Amino acid sequence: MMLAIFNARPNAIWLRMGGVGVSVWRTLTSGANETSKCWNCDEPSASSLFCRRCDSLQRPNARQNFFQIIGVDEHFRLDESALAKKFKDLQKVLHPDKFNNKTRAEQKISEEYSSLVNKAYSTLLHPLSRGTYILQLKGHELPEKTDLESGFLHEIMERNEEVECADTPEEILRIEREIKSILVRLQNELNDALITDDFSAAIKTLVQMKYYISIEDQIKNVIRSMNIVR
Ligand SMILES: [Zn+2]
Repeated sequence: MMLAIFNARPNAIWLRMGGVGVSVWRTLTSGANETSKCWNCDEPSASSLFCRRCDSLQRPNARQNFFQIIGVDEHFRLDESALAKKFKDLQKVLHPDKFNNKTRAEQKISEEYSSLVNKAYSTLLHPLSRGTYILQLKGHELPEKTDLESGFLHEIMERNEEVECADTPEEILRIEREIKSILVRLQNELNDALITDDFSAAIKTLVQMKYYISIEDQIKNVIRSMNIVR
């Protein structure tokens, strides 16, 4: 339906909408590439990063989510090397240094765009923040506090103790392998929960991931303090 609206001629849309308020019209059009204009020269259809007429950098599209800003598929299981490549390519083009000879207005857009791309990349890079972000896109927040099942709490306490008591490289590396494989399992579960829109399962899994990631951080500290070379 949205596509049909954007592809139609503006006058036709206005008639078809039959006097629906201007605010609705603005909501439908703002940020949509097909109808936006270059901020500098008013050239319509600024669908790329740069205006085809005056070559000025365009503002980020406010309707785009982080996946769309970077240009990767909207899946929890994303291709991390493709993400890194797209990010690097974008940062090369958007780097504020490239806009030294441009107007102040365009420099400001490049700074804002560049920091938005950084934020999008760091959010999508890590499975925990990526999963939390997808949950938000689907209209659900990760609660700050959740009740933990006693079995899970017990498991976390035991793991913490295990890390604290580990006194040989073999032992800490074994625990690290176990935690990593738990995190892989949790990521698989999170992927399934997000695909099937099972939000309570997704939240439960994300909370568990948080705890295991903090154990993983502790393990890294121990490995560092033991000077283990890998
Ligand atoms: Zn232009």
